[in-house]
Order: sequence, then structure tokens, then C-alpha cells
Amino acid sequence: MSRSTVCLTCDFDAVSPWLHLFDGQESPTKLSRGLFGVDYGTPRLLELFDQHDIEATWFVPGHTIASFPDACEAVWSRGHDIQHHGWTHRPLSSYETEAEERSDIERGIESIETLTGRRPIGFRSPSWDFSPRTLSILRDLGFEWDSSQMGADFHPYRLRTGWEAPLDQPFDRGEPTDIVELPVSWQRDDFPPFAYRRGQGFVTERSVFDQWLTQFEWMHEHIDDGVFVLTIHPQVSGQSHRLTNLDQLLESLKEFSNVDFRTLSSVAAEFVDN
Ligand SMILES: [Zn+2]
Repeated sequence: MSRSTVCLTCDFDAVSPWLHLFDGQESPTKLSRGLFGVDYGTPRLLELFDQHDIEATWFVPGHTIASFPDACEAVWSRGHDIQHHGWTHRPLSSYETEAEERSDIERGIESIETLTGRRPIGFRSPSWDFSPRTLSILRDLGFEWDSSQMGADFHPYRLRTGWEAPLDQPFDRGEPTDIVELPVSWQRDDFPPFAYRRGQGFVTERSVFDQWLTQFEWMHEHIDDGVFVLTIHPQVSGQSHRLTNLDQLLESLKEFSNVDFRTLSSVAAEFVDN
């Protein structure tokens, strides 16, 4: 019988992405969307996860840890895993030098060590954006897994180095590394459909949760040891109606046979052992 794993992941960005997005200008209204995630979204999600007895993986930028230490401590003390999500949430490909990119990642490591007393082993790139240098920096700094890329939907795999993509030659995939990828998808992320931005309309929200359930059903039926990674943001999914829908989705997922809710660190460790 098929066994399936669900990994709930929360990107606790708070105000950090609003420092970089759109026109780059700080806006009190944009920043307040992040503050909602700190003051309301995160406590509500922690409560929901407690009700379902689920341990989630939280990706927390160093900027969030430094700005909102009590909220981050609440996540940690409630028994969730906390891993790396950059320091300022600045897209890594926007750094001009390797030294600047490495410095951002090192500062983020220090922030998580301050909060948890543990060095992070997992990484999620801000905006799921890698530079060509990112993988080698992660390997140098001792990371064991990443969750930013999209080369599979429901299978962990290994990130590759030495790949080449010339315009006038065939693509060379390179060689696998020891970094495990736990792939993400814009199809399993709350931000694209729900987070209003100018020029982007709202969707029928229930349909998104139905799509997530349909994706899981397909995985459970067709994939042995499938891993379903869902990405949510406290400032997006901590809104009232989405909490109701998320609660119902979790109930539906728990009704399937042989379904476990686990952290990404746990899934990566098992992948390596096998
Ligand atoms: Zn983020």
C-alpha cells in the first residue's frame, strides 16, 4: 500500500520581503501586511498545528528573528523545526559578488543559532531564487538539504553541480552532490493565488484548497513514498477564512491511510539513509 508524507512548511517572512518587492520603497501599509503575520497569523497557525498535533518546518529570515524575537521563540518553543531563509530575504541572484551572497547566508546562520542553539542544516532560498553560486556556498557551509527548486514534484532528489547551459550546445546536467532537494512548486504555495498585488485578481479561494487535495490524492494513488510539500505564509494563510479551509484540508489528508506529517529534516535524513 502506498505510503505518503505531508510536509507543512511556513515561510515566516514578516516584513522582510516587503523591503525588496515592487518599487523597493518602504511603505507602512505594505509593512503592516508582514506585521499581521507576526501578531495574528503566526499565533493562529501555531494553534491550528497544535490542534492537529503537527510538527511543521518554519523557514525564518534572520531579519525576522532580529525584529520579532518573541514570535520566533514561540515557534521554536512549540516544537517546530526552524531552518534558514536568508537574512534580509533578498533574492540571492541580486548579489553582485560571491562574498556578499555568502555573507547574507552566514548572517542568517548566526541568527538561527542564536534562536535555537543549533546550526541550520536546511535552506530555502528567498523567493525560491538561486544564483549560480548558491549551491557551492551551501555545500561549503555544511547544509544538508534545500527546499527551493522544482526538478520533481513528489520525490526528493540530489542537486547537481557542474551543469552547463550554453545557447549553442546541448544542456549538461552535471553531477549529483550530497545536497538533498525537497522540491517546491508554485502550485503548492499560498502566496501566488491569495496575496493580493496590484494587477492580480483574487481567485475562488476554496478551489485552491481543492486543487491541493487533488494533487495529494494523485500522489497518494500513483507514487510510493511520495512527499507532498505545502508552503504557506503566516501573513497569507493566517487569515480567518483560510484557516478554516486549511483546517478542513488537514482533516481530509488525515483520513487517507498511511499518511504521516513530518519535517523536511526528517524526510531528508531518511532519503540519505536509503
Ligand atoms: Zn520567503
